Amino acid sequence: SVAVLWFRRDLRVHDHPALVQALDEHDRIVPLYVLDDALLGGRYASPSRTAFMLGCLRALDQELAQRGSGLVVRHGRPEDEVPALARELGAEAVHWTSDVSPYARRRDTRVSDLLREHEVRPRPHGGTYLVDPSKPRTQGGRPYTVFSPFHRAIDQVDRRTVHRAPAELPPLPSGLRKGRLPSAQALGIDPADLVPEPVAEPGEPAARAALERWLRDDLDHYADRHDGMSRPGTSVLSPYLRWGCLSARECEERAARRGGKGAAAWNRQLAWRDFYAHQLLLFPDNVAQEFQPRYRRRLAWSDDEELLRAWKDGRTGYPLVDAGMRQLARTGWMHNRARLVVGSFLTKDLHIDWRQGERHFARLLLDGEPAQNNGNWQWIASTGADPAPYFRRLFNPMTQQRKFDPEGTYVRRWVPELAGVPDERLVEPWTMSDEQQQAAGCVIGTDYPAPIVDHAQERRVAMERYAAAGEG
Ligand code: FAD
Repeated sequence: SVAVLWFRRDLRVHDHPALVQALDEHDRIVPLYVLDDALLGGRYASPSRTAFMLGCLRALDQELAQRGSGLVVRHGRPEDEVPALARELGAEAVHWTSDVSPYARRRDTRVSDLLREHEVRPRPHGGTYLVDPSKPRTQGGRPYTVFSPFHRAIDQVDRRTVHRAPAELPPLPSGLRKGRLPSAQALGIDPADLVPEPVAEPGEPAARAALERWLRDDLDHYADRHDGMSRPGTSVLSPYLRWGCLSARECEERAARRGGKGAAAWNRQLAWRDFYAHQLLLFPDNVAQEFQPRYRRRLAWSDDEELLRAWKDGRTGYPLVDAGMRQLARTGWMHNRARLVVGSFLTKDLHIDWRQGERHFARLLLDGEPAQNNGNWQWIASTGADPAPYFRRLFNPMTQQRKFDPEGTYVRRWVPELAGVPDERLVEPWTMSDEQQQAAGCVIGTDYPAPIVDHAQERRVAMERYAAAGEG
């Protein structure tokens, strides 16, 4: 029998449950990718992420071709294209890796209904997360809203990896139109909108090489170094996990096999990814509203275009905030500690709605995706599933810089105007004397902005607004 294997954000051939199952059940499988305009041009669309995805698809096509098959490409609505190909092939089933976002779930339900009408079986599989994010429940039968008990619960769930990629795949049926992957430009993407130095090279082979390097060289130090920004201490595998060039389960298993406290700390971070998938799947309204009912429509957000622009451009006058925002704009990625600092700054120093931050991140992050972006933004805005009160997540950008970038390496790398500022002034460059500014080649207000707001004052405003909303 024939089956379609519909790829979406599982762009790999290793440890791919849907691929393994499809090969097991059918003589012939036809790998398909559908370029969907609703995603390519939607509210959270991203030129850089689309370009990265096209690179991943090209690599996948090669991986499939080396094994005797290839990627069939269609451009249109999945509701039209998937059933049409299934019918053209006389396919018995369509296999895919399931997803949690509200859009993906609506799309998959529609496609499933249409397939059933034509007597084609829809076959969703796991493979994006460590466990099936729909399953974990508290003893009371409810979804988890706190990470630690969720983590303990999923640790008990049995998971198997399949690891090896199949050595050979059945060839594509002769006469089938394969379709071509377009260039980013052909999709209407202006090269000027792409991040100039993407943090990662797209595709599964690059992802696997990066994973090997990470496991070999740096994983053991993760527990001590992951928060530090002066030297890279995290894996930077998130764009690959986002597009499924790597399987999270394989990452977890390989790290666990290596053992030690670095591996344990890293696997805990992978579990956060499952936690936020669980959140979005079971609380889909989070995409539009605060998870915490007491904050819904009650928090007073400021609508200040100028402040928002300064934040986006990395011109707030707070070096760590600006370094993070510029790393994002240049590379499509930002260190997690910086994401927290800039998130706290947007929501609690500028009092701008977290959805503005979520949207800007979605446009630029190569790893941007609804579950992780929304979950983390709500966490830092203190509106999400997190038992800590808002004042615990009200970060002081100066203290954070002293603690996590003590040598100023990160700040100087991303904010070159500050390169000549002496160490003891780098956290608060506006305190330099006129002579120091001249000597550093950095005149505040000319070469680098003075702080756009006063942190101590805005902290008080945030405390008042959150307290008022919480009581309201
Ligand atoms: P590592 O530290 O090496 O961790 C390994 C993997 O664990 C990551 O690749 C990631 O898949 C997962 N992980 C780590 N931290 C988190 C976390 N806090 N939440 C969920 N998963 C995590 N991550 C995304 O993948 N996509 C997003 O859109 C996204 N938006 C964010 C927005 C904000 C405001 C914040 C504070 C964080 C966001 N994160 C997001 C989470 C986190 O910052 C990144 O996953 C991490 O920085 C990726 O770098 P890494 O691969 O080096 O991580």
